[in-house]
Amino acid sequence: KNKVNILGLDFDKTTKQDMINTLKHKIQHHKKTFIVTANPEIVMYALKDQEYMNTLQSADHIIADGAGIIMGSKLLKTPLPERVAGFDVLKDLLDVANEEALNVFFLGAGKKVIEQAVQNIKSEYPNLVIGGYHHGFFNEHDPSIGEMVKNSNSDIVFVALGFPKQEKWIAKNFDTFAKGIFMGVGGSFDILAG
Ligand code: UDP
Repeated sequence: KNKVNILGLDFDKTTKQDMINTLKHKIQHHKKTFIVTANPEIVMYALKDQEYMNTLQSADHIIADGAGIIMGSKLLKTPLPERVAGFDVLKDLLDVANEEALNVFFLGAGKKVIEQAVQNIKSEYPNLVIGGYHHGFFNEHDPSIGEMVKNSNSDIVFVALGFPKQEKWIAKNFDTFAKGIFMGVGGSFDILAG
């Protein structure tokens, strides 16, 4: 079995490099994928919010973003190989997107932050195609954001609304998308804008 259950969540038994290879393969085959990078805060939150727990359980991949989760897996005698930080996966996927001229959508963070982050990404990853971007302070019942993402037909969609919002947004809209890797990235755009 390639999953390890910790407090109700099935974590992928994977190194970062194997995860990136898996995602590359899925992108090549236009296989729609929801990936969650779960840190201990997220796991604790899910234990108190059943809707969020269901959302996380609906993901294709849950990766362990925290030393506490690796430690827990060892105590349960089902060790996970290593911590896989969400920000590192984001950076590696930006590299893949740059190498393969993939189309990437960036959703979330403040208006100034996302604009600056996109500027920085354009200069650091010149071959990456910006499929679109939008700040993260929109009405969650406004369907136009989901439509914008869908119409971009992006290979990768990073959603930075903070948890639990970002995963709930992905899960709610997932069925409408034809393809794409969807991943919540928390405060990552603030770092990319910095
Ligand atoms: N954010 C957003 N829309 C919201 C709430 C938050 O776009 O309605 C953004 C916020 O500007 C920041 C990110 O989501 O860029 C949340 O970052 P944080 O480090 O708090 O992430 P967490 O650790 O909560 O996942």
